[in-house]
Amino acid sequence: MRQFTSLLLTLLLIFSLAACAAAPSGDPPSSSGTAEDPAVSSEDAENPAPEPEEEPVPPEPEPYEISDPTEEKEGYVPWNGVVEHLFFHPVIAYPELAFDGDAQANGLDDFMVTVDEYNKILQSCYDKGYVLVDIADVWSETTGEDGQPKMIRNTLYLPEGKKPLILSYDDTNYYPYMLENGLAYKLIIGEDGKIASWGLDPKGEEVVSRDLDAIPILDKFVEEHPDFSPFGAKGCLSLTGYEGILGYRTQTDTKNWDDAREANRQKEREAVKPIVEELKRTGWTFGSHTWGHIRLGTLSLDTIKADTRRWYDEVGSLVGETTILFYPHGERPDGNDWKNTGPVFQYLQSTGFRVFASVGVESFSFIKKDICAVICDRLHPDGTTLRHSRDRYLQFYDAKDIMDVDVRPQREIDWS
Ligand SMILES: [Zn+2]
Repeated sequence: MRQFTSLLLTLLLIFSLAACAAAPSGDPPSSSGTAEDPAVSSEDAENPAPEPEEEPVPPEPEPYEISDPTEEKEGYVPWNGVVEHLFFHPVIAYPELAFDGDAQANGLDDFMVTVDEYNKILQSCYDKGYVLVDIADVWSETTGEDGQPKMIRNTLYLPEGKKPLILSYDDTNYYPYMLENGLAYKLIIGEDGKIASWGLDPKGEEVVSRDLDAIPILDKFVEEHPDFSPFGAKGCLSLTGYEGILGYRTQTDTKNWDDAREANRQKEREAVKPIVEELKRTGWTFGSHTWGHIRLGTLSLDTIKADTRRWYDEVGSLVGETTILFYPHGERPDGNDWKNTGPVFQYLQSTGFRVFASVGVESFSFIKKDICAVICDRLHPDGTTLRHSRDRYLQFYDAKDIMDVDVRPQREIDWS
């Protein structure tokens, strides 16, 4: 029932947005219908032409500079050590909706952090001397002595005393189940021309904010602490396609489709384009999380091929080229991808992926010798590791200082 309600809400949202887009706006009144025209009929006087709406003039975007951390720069020192990598899911704006005891509450507790926790984690990483780098700048493709393409680890040049940190964000699709559980509904461009989130608060009121979603929160944090991102990098957004992207329903459905759905999909595609463009302009990059959030270690090669083509068609066509693949469920293809290079890995690599990211207990990375690719693991700040892996994350933050024990479900914690 809950899922049905959420589907209804989503449909209502889509239709109301479609209705907004279809409503005439700012049509100039015809010359015979102006207020000065004495010939205006009484019928027209009762139903005057709508005031022409002022087209909002988007403010000139603030310039945003992105630079290359692999270029030597005065005052910057070489870094060849580990590049740490943390990943988040969308963050919980309203814990009272997330942790309401429903069927999703424990899953949200396991896999997500709240806005307050996220703010504290960013602050702590900043205080501990981490600076953001983009995942695509850490490794490069080159030609080996044997004439074959291979990946190499780049030397990064960082401000003295700083340590590099990659951030990635999985499932930034704003799935319908997230909407009723206290997360943002979608990204939009706010009146100030900046990325904001749109959603409903627990009373059902519309809220546009830069303080309730991981993406604008990081944008703001970097505005306030520009030295957290000396190269302009933000994070890499790991997108599936089956519920659209960034809160826009850009997906197809092979079972249930008609012209009206396709027309709406095209509208959603147009609507998300400026969001993608602004994200890219301000240091965000994109990777694939597969179209269907599929298990790459379990499904057949044919299924994986069809899913990959669909991702390129429906998501890649909007976000552009990427070399980054984030394994759904952290599940590695072909059993053990850093020992074997099996048919699934070979296929995925052949489509253009070079960096294959899983999930693990450290920011491990391994350049494969037999194929041009790198494998890397990411750490995962979330309820599970806040509760059970305090030590492993102390280099970034102390779970004791971060975790909102009072708002989360009363479940086990390993520290006290
Ligand atoms: Zn995922």
